[in-house]
Amino acid sequence: MNQARDCRADVVILGAGPAGLGAAWALAGSGARVVVLEREPEVGGLCRTHAREGYRFDMGGHRFITADRPLLDRVTRLMGDELLLAERKSEVALLGRRFRYPLELRDLLANLPPRVAARALASYVKARWRRDPSPPDTFEAWATARFGRALYELFLGPYTEKVWGVPPAELSAEWATQRISLLDLKDVIRWLLPRQRARPPRTYAKTFLYPRLGMGQLFTRIAEEVAEGGVELWRGCAALGFERSGARVRAVRVAGPSGPLRVEAEHVLSTAPLSHLLGWLPEGAELAAGFRFRPVRFLNLALSRGQVLPVTWRYVGERRFRAGRLQEPNKRSPFMAPPGVSSLMVEVPHAPGDAIDLADDAGLLERLWDELEALDVGVTRSEVRFAFSVRAPEAYPVHLRHTAARREAALALVDRCENLRSFGRQGGFRFVFSDACLRMGLDAAAGVLGGALPSSLELASVQSARRLLEVESVVGSEVAR
Ligand SMILES: Cc1cc2nc3c(=O)[nH]c(=O)nc-3n(C[C@H](O)[C@H](O)[C@H](O)COP(=O)(O)OP(=O)(O)OC[C@H]3O[C@@H](n4cnc5c(N)ncnc54)[C@H](O)[C@@H]3O)c2cc1C
Repeated sequence: MNQARDCRADVVILGAGPAGLGAAWALAGSGARVVVLEREPEVGGLCRTHAREGYRFDMGGHRFITADRPLLDRVTRLMGDELLLAERKSEVALLGRRFRYPLELRDLLANLPPRVAARALASYVKARWRRDPSPPDTFEAWATARFGRALYELFLGPYTEKVWGVPPAELSAEWATQRISLLDLKDVIRWLLPRQRARPPRTYAKTFLYPRLGMGQLFTRIAEEVAEGGVELWRGCAALGFERSGARVRAVRVAGPSGPLRVEAEHVLSTAPLSHLLGWLPEGAELAAGFRFRPVRFLNLALSRGQVLPVTWRYVGERRFRAGRLQEPNKRSPFMAPPGVSSLMVEVPHAPGDAIDLADDAGLLERLWDELEALDVGVTRSEVRFAFSVRAPEAYPVHLRHTAARREAALALVDRCENLRSFGRQGGFRFVFSDACLRMGLDAAAGVLGGALPSSLELASVQSARRLLEVESVVGSEVAR
């Protein structure tokens, strides 16, 4: 770390996650003095990989997917042979059975108890037939219109409430349209008509890119390149607030490892949670309360046995289980565990201050062990070599019905400081993946270098391109060639 007690920089970037590192990547080598402030001891944000005794765990299994050609080229050039092509296989555990994910109607109908299956089919066809032309504004309205009430009540509703911690009737439909794979009515009809059954249904691309040593490897590699380009990465330094001068931020106040600091800045690019940033602006405090995050705790189990799951990850559908998803890291890369053994990660969304939040690691394992047994994971206690947990207090930006309007107002307020912008998943309050966050950072930096900063709203509007890739397999076909 290259940090002086007080200093002056051309650009100060708050956060060394994908969005902050994306900005630093574009500014590296530009000749500008760039300081990145990261409150944690490591870079990568939610894309960090935690390594212990040869086992590696992402914060929730990550995969790199993008339809952003220039970004893809840049990432593949940087990573070379360290980037593997992995295959996604996912399923849902429900009613003591397992179903394919993305949901496939034929699989649901074949595996659900016959009466439940008949209800699911009837309500699905009814919902799709009676399409309401007005766009649904809540997750519940969106999901029931696309999957039917029976499937919604069986899986999508309870699972969504578990993950987000609010009733789906209060959640905005915005994120669902980006992230949930749909049952395709044409496939269903084709399947229902016997003469058409031989034709294969439309399939979703299943490949994704994954760094050999975990998602975090991509971001430590970017950080290395950024440092080589002269950018200063100050780890363990949390931004605490600003000094203002009229419509500009004059300096960032920082809690450093050896006490308080201040960094004078020409430009400030923030990827810190939007609610924190608003709290640092006198006129933003009231708006700040409108932005909530859903925390997730990840319980990582290092095992002394080989393969556990037949899939990369398994969603846990029912609300009675606290776990939301189980992942086996070496399904993404064989280098995520020592040779011959495996590991398991349990994602547990929770509320601040609840029993999951307050438990220590041993207590958390105790609480979740009964669930792992009830879910028939097949691991015995003697096969757990060690367990530890990792916390993500701001894992999911919770989009309620009125969040979009509040977000616009909040980002406009941030931009009243002419040299300040906010973007990224937490900073732009968007449910987006790392590709979109890298792109936001690259675009913000291009604005700095070009002398015209885009607005925070423009920056934070980049979409993760999952649907395009999952349907058209852009990355898969390009890399496999
Ligand atoms: C369970 C889960 C699974 C996911 N799966 C995928 C996936 O498969 N593929 C994918 O591409 N994406 C995935 N994502 C999303 C991905 O992790 C995020 O989109 C990405 O990490 C967001 O980047 P960011 O830089 O905006 O935010 P972050 O990654 O959160 O980084 C922000 C950084 O800012 C730092 N910071 C915050 N406040 C301050 C402050 N005051 N001062 C200094 N530093 C500060 C934080 O410590 C952090 O390092 C997943 C996310 C979760 C939670």
